[in-house]
Amino acid sequence: MKRMALLSAIAMTVASACATPPAEVTELLTREDSSLQRILVRSPEGYAKIAKNLKAGDTVVLANGVWRDFDLVIQGQGTAESPIQVVAEEPGQVILSGQSSLRLGGNHIIVSGLVFRDGYTPRNEVISFRIDRDTLANNSRVTQTVIENYNNPERALRDTWVVMYGRGNEFDRNHLSGKLNSGPTMTVRLNTEESRNNGHKIHHNYFGPRPVFGSNGGETLRIGTSHYSLTTSNTLVESNYFDRCSGEVEIVSNKSGGNTYRDNTFFESRGTLTLRHGNGTIVENNLFDGNGALYTGGVRVINAQQTIRNNYFKDLTGTRFSGALVVMNGVPDSPINRYHQVDGANITGNTFDTVSAIELAEGSDTERSAVPINSSFENNIVLGATSSTPFNLYDDMSGVTFAGNITDSRPPEAISRGFSVSETVTGTPFISKDGDAGADGEYGVDRNETGVEWFPKPSAGSPFETGQVTSVLPGEGTIAKAVKKAASGDILLLSPGAYNEARIIDISRPLTIRAADSSNKPVLSFERSNMFKLSKSGALRLDGVSVSGASAPDAKGNSFIATSARAGVGNLTLEILNSDFDDFMINGAFAIVTAEKGTFFDVVKVSGATFKNISGDVFKFNSESDDYGIYNVEYMEISDTDFSDIRGSAVSIYRGGRDESTFGPYVKVTESTFTNVGNGSQPMMVFHGAQSVEVTTNLAENSAPAEFVITTGIPKTIIEGNRTVGPPPSVFLTTTDMRQ
Ligand code: CA
Repeated sequence: MKRMALLSAIAMTVASACATPPAEVTELLTREDSSLQRILVRSPEGYAKIAKNLKAGDTVVLANGVWRDFDLVIQGQGTAESPIQVVAEEPGQVILSGQSSLRLGGNHIIVSGLVFRDGYTPRNEVISFRIDRDTLANNSRVTQTVIENYNNPERALRDTWVVMYGRGNEFDRNHLSGKLNSGPTMTVRLNTEESRNNGHKIHHNYFGPRPVFGSNGGETLRIGTSHYSLTTSNTLVESNYFDRCSGEVEIVSNKSGGNTYRDNTFFESRGTLTLRHGNGTIVENNLFDGNGALYTGGVRVINAQQTIRNNYFKDLTGTRFSGALVVMNGVPDSPINRYHQVDGANITGNTFDTVSAIELAEGSDTERSAVPINSSFENNIVLGATSSTPFNLYDDMSGVTFAGNITDSRPPEAISRGFSVSETVTGTPFISKDGDAGADGEYGVDRNETGVEWFPKPSAGSPFETGQVTSVLPGEGTIAKAVKKAASGDILLLSPGAYNEARIIDISRPLTIRAADSSNKPVLSFERSNMFKLSKSGALRLDGVSVSGASAPDAKGNSFIATSARAGVGNLTLEILNSDFDDFMINGAFAIVTAEKGTFFDVVKVSGATFKNISGDVFKFNSESDDYGIYNVEYMEISDTDFSDIRGSAVSIYRGGRDESTFGPYVKVTESTFTNVGNGSQPMMVFHGAQSVEVTTNLAENSAPAEFVITTGIPKTIIEGNRTVGPPPSVFLTTTDMRQ
């Protein structure tokens, strides 16, 4: 009878609208065989008309097309046999853009086939398994749904794409890719009693690339928070593919008890599955395949009763917090948000195949002094990446039983009794069970078995030079015109001659600008404060040009290349090759490249360049001055480059604060010369808070020493083969340690 009421309510709406109903009015598509109905809606207004009366068995079909600013709220009481469904007319053809979001509340609701893109959520969440604090979703499911690049343009503004509340919910076969702003991609919350011991299932999802975020807050999945971490979540995370999820040191941040991570693949993902808080979690049958990429790790173990069994760890290069296996030291009587002692860890039957580091009692210091106890490391195969053992012991390991393990190089004396050393442990592609040691069976999940079929998974590789080549002639505004027409990956070839630009050129996608004739450099000048502004996912390779700053205005904040936080938050890339810069003196602080606060470069690479007569810093990456562990550049490499007559510093990088969540900044400077840099009063270069500094075979003349300030972590440093020529007689680089 209720069915009839709904039908007539809609019929009346239609009838009362007018003779020819406007587009947003709903249509009823009643299935022949039953009282179940399919309701086609064509607009948010149309949806609003039926939203209050959704009943068990109803299927709402959202019409193909773009739905802008759609605040989709689905509330109702479905049943297991007759759920309430909201589906795309065709999967992938219903686009929610602008300020759209989705909230579910009630029981047995299923959503499928939607795509969120070209916008960002106006709320804290894009997809929420609750409508408000009192209206949670239970036994509900979101499937076959895509969220791609749905980012708040302000990088520091925090949101989360998917948040699960309630109990018995399922999130499966979805595609989440390209989150750039602050906040985990997905979380499970335990903030009320009704969301604990939840039995959620998160499976067969494709978690696509999450670029380096550049501070804490770049997790791909977090389950729980420290506050409720001693309660049970009982969430299953199964057969998901984590593809280059490299936002920060925690790929997954497990912060609750009783969870299971099974059959997942972690591919080229920096950091680890971190058992950060809570007890009694199982990690089994997963594949951690670093594929040799930087900082790739496996599992980091903290707390009590954690089980890590039958996993395959392969080609992982990470060390310390990002090792293939990291067993942390705890804090005695730890506060809930610090490090609880490892107690009763069971690490058994795993294969570690070509891994750089297994870190035991990691983090041992005066605060973290509680060593692992009642634990076992048994029947594992361990093959290091080099001829020496990957094991590092930072404290007493007598609380861990080592037995039945096989390895190919002699482990440290304190644990060696638990290993037989055999150099003949070989086999490809996987080294599986050898006797009782090692992992057995299938590991992980195939990428193609995750996500949706109708939405492509991003490919790897350089963004540059994948497109068309276009010739550009000298003159006024010719580069701007060519950039405007260019597609992603295109190459603009500049003929010899003079180019002048009266407008700032926006670069929001990968482009190469290159001399057509490398022996006859085109000469570039510009009349605004910047020549190029990088925004969104802008990437620029500049090769073989000569640039003058002489036509720029006499204004503060001039910079040949600048960035824009307002236009979007993408990770930027810049390469400057074989190019010359001269005459940037028109104003007191002219820079060559500046990163605005809230913008982030993945890579800045400079090679075969000369910088001469510059009044400010050449590379100015010091705008994140809040000491929150945020910074402007992940990887900066300078090679075979000459700096001379620079009033500021050649490079200024600032990462303040003591947060341990990032790998960068990484700096490499090699085979370069510095003459009259810093005007004798400023450091030649500043690396404040860098986590890796490699400075080799450079030459400095009449320049103040470079300054490396250690603020946190255990930075890697290689400083060698550098020379200085006086005056003043000097060292090339000074190191200041500000840790404790
Ligand atoms: Ca974190």
